[in-house]
Amino acid sequence: MNQVLRPESPVATKVFPSPNHGERKDGRSPTLLVLHYTGMPDSGEALLWLANPISQVSAHYFVFEDGRVLQMVPESRRAWHAGVSAWDGEGDINSSSIGIEIANPGHPGGLPSFPEEQIQSVTALAKDIVTRWRISPDHVLAHSDVAPGRKLDPGEAFPWRQLHDAGVGHWVSPTPIRDGRFFARGDRGMPVEALQAMLAMYGYQTRITGLFDEDTEKVVAAFQRHFRPERVDGVADASTITTLKDLIARRPQPHV
Ligand SMILES: [Zn+2]
Repeated sequence: MNQVLRPESPVATKVFPSPNHGERKDGRSPTLLVLHYTGMPDSGEALLWLANPISQVSAHYFVFEDGRVLQMVPESRRAWHAGVSAWDGEGDINSSSIGIEIANPGHPGGLPSFPEEQIQSVTALAKDIVTRWRISPDHVLAHSDVAPGRKLDPGEAFPWRQLHDAGVGHWVSPTPIRDGRFFARGDRGMPVEALQAMLAMYGYQTRITGLFDEDTEKVVAAFQRHFRPERVDGVADASTITTLKDLIARRPQPHV
């Protein structure tokens, strides 16, 4: 099926087709759900951009501020939403994911909050998708998780905790921020190696070198953006490390 006439999710009301999709590579099927913000001031313009062949970008679903949901690409197809990306040692996230674009001006627009109606729709849509495709809660990710540094969306204003409380995604309450020992750019040694190993164990694309380099800093910031949004600075403080440990320890069993 190269186009859908009726939405595949009951949460979507209409189809607004984008030509920007292809075949999933190696016959892969969706095992990840990736959330984005549009990062544009006007949602109508963002929608048109995702449907424009010139843009070479798309997503399976688009969620307006008022909660309306459109489907743009059939779920069986590879939408072009994640770009250069990796998770759990696999690249080409587009081939193994479903992408949702959430209309929001994002960092360029000063990180405005996401309206309640919009979050209700994102939650319902995500629930429907993860149920039908048996996507495990820890596979509901931010674009910034699969492309650290390169991408910031859906951003630290996105209410991951609220989605989790409604049954979508993996989350633990972040450990409170306190003073104390921390690791940052330029540090090296066993603790840095252990941090990198934990980030990689969770799924982040991290090289385990024992050197806290620029890439490590980007991955730590990506982690914070999703799981410890109160302070996103790329510094591995005690709160960041403990939150990561808790997240791994309480990781749900994958669906079989
Ligand atoms: Zn994105």
